[in-house]
Amino acid sequence: MKLFRKDSPGLEASILPKILLETLEELDGDSLILAPGEVPVFATEGIERLGVLRDGKIQSPELMATVRVVRRTHSKQVGQIEIPRGPIGEGKHELTVNVMPLVKDNLVLIHMSDESEAQRIHDVRRDFVANVSHELKTPIGALSLLSEAVLGAKDDPASVEKFALRMQSEAKRLTDLVQEIINLSRLQDSDPLQVADAVSIEYVIREAIDECRINAENRRIEVAYNDKSVSQVLGDRDQLIMAVHNLLENAINYSPEGTKVSITCKNHDGIVDVSVTDQGIGIPDSEIDRIFERFYRVDPARSRQTGGTGLGLSIVKHVAAKHGGDVSVWSAPNVGSTFSLLLPIYEENEEQK
Ligand code: ADP
Repeated sequence: MKLFRKDSPGLEASILPKILLETLEELDGDSLILAPGEVPVFATEGIERLGVLRDGKIQSPELMATVRVVRRTHSKQVGQIEIPRGPIGEGKHELTVNVMPLVKDNLVLIHMSDESEAQRIHDVRRDFVANVSHELKTPIGALSLLSEAVLGAKDDPASVEKFALRMQSEAKRLTDLVQEIINLSRLQDSDPLQVADAVSIEYVIREAIDECRINAENRRIEVAYNDKSVSQVLGDRDQLIMAVHNLLENAINYSPEGTKVSITCKNHDGIVDVSVTDQGIGIPDSEIDRIFERFYRVDPARSRQTGGTGLGLSIVKHVAAKHGGDVSVWSAPNVGSTFSLLLPIYEENEEQK
């Protein structure tokens, strides 16, 4: 998709050589061409997705400053810029930009690529591998000990059964852990906004509730959802479902049986707020900052009982940041917790419909 100013249809065709545009579309990264007055006359699809342009205006003051330098000096400039992924949260695109003059008609060409992202992925992966090896050792060690115990108790059927049941639960734990690791590493590899769709929040919530139904029934927990949302978010549907699912699953797992979990969905200032509230054990103030870290658990024994992997909330945080959103929490021990997933609402404009 190319973007043109609505009031100057055909501007691209008249002033930009077709071969140049074709080349820019083939290049890795994204490109933007500005006419005098910093009017965008050409942009590859990613430019809008990255949030570099909004309503035909460049959003980064750093980039505007670089463009001004290029216009003044008629020389190419290379730099790094950061663009927030959304109006809230800490998610950022870190971009390497090349800005150069195109002599014809005083145009400026901006080319940008996300190279710092590759470095970040490399660093995250290195730490992650170290943590994962440690986490995998626990259930594997338990399986090994239990198998020895089975051998030692082979003449005592009751003990064999007890150890075999524990082996089953360790094996399940291992399977869950591996699945979460796969989920998280997929997330860290991909940028949901590269393959973004308009996703209905109502659908996301209903799917997540459906996925948690059996666990809720087993724990006699009523999941209440009475709002109705027409909001859409630009992003990856499966990742969004995974995030709400993780919040719901935690709300169910960290609550006493027979209590209630509710989901609400509210819009304010262009943000949709999906909140999951429980009447559970709550989280002490001193732990709140740490619960989003990978493999951090407030009470490792309890988390082990519920089959927790310690990865659920770091996945939620990742999904939120990658969608330009954020996640916040309110909690009081023995009262309950509210986790809020905040995401920028996507308004389809007429041209995209
Ligand atoms: P886990 O797989 O252990 O549940 P998470 O990353 O999902 O891992 O959560 C990290 C920790 O945060 C949990 O181990 C638990 O101590 C705490 N926690 C998460 N959600 C809740 C909740 N709704 N109520 C109480 N504690 C919670």
